[in-house]
Amino acid sequence: MASPPVQNPSSEYPNTNQPGDEEVHFWPTDSPEEQQNLSELLQSDFGSLGVLGVNMNGPRVVCTGCGKLSGFDDVVSTALKTGAHTVTYMVDAIRSGRFLPSNQHENVYCYKCGEAWPKRWGWPRYGGWLVRGPDLGSDLQLAE
Ligand SMILES: [Zn+2]
Repeated sequence: MASPPVQNPSSEYPNTNQPGDEEVHFWPTDSPEEQQNLSELLQSDFGSLGVLGVNMNGPRVVCTGCGKLSGFDDVVSTALKTGAHTVTYMVDAIRSGRFLPSNQHENVYCYKCGEAWPKRWGWPRYGGWLVRGPDLGSDLQLAE
């Protein structure tokens, strides 16, 4: 052993937990189909919420049941179907950027056909779950 096992002095993360242990994948919500699904599910114009996508701890996959790409719409529809969150609660969390607890012990189901995801992905533990774009020239003020 040439070098002793020292702490990495250039680590950007002072936490004892290691963010690098976890994969983080950005799932954009910009497809027309997903925008429409999310608008239906959240009973509001999803495009006006200024969301670019969400961070997940696994890659998007093609649904084995119907060929739809997994997305935030599946997460939202599952949360509504299982009663984990109400529409109001989720829209409020998206607007404010507040953390939305996810039940990672629960399956997530395809919004379109109901097939369960092959893995129970959820939000990553680091870096936040919601990725917002710049305000779309609206008067929307972010609280805090
Ligand atoms: Zn499906």
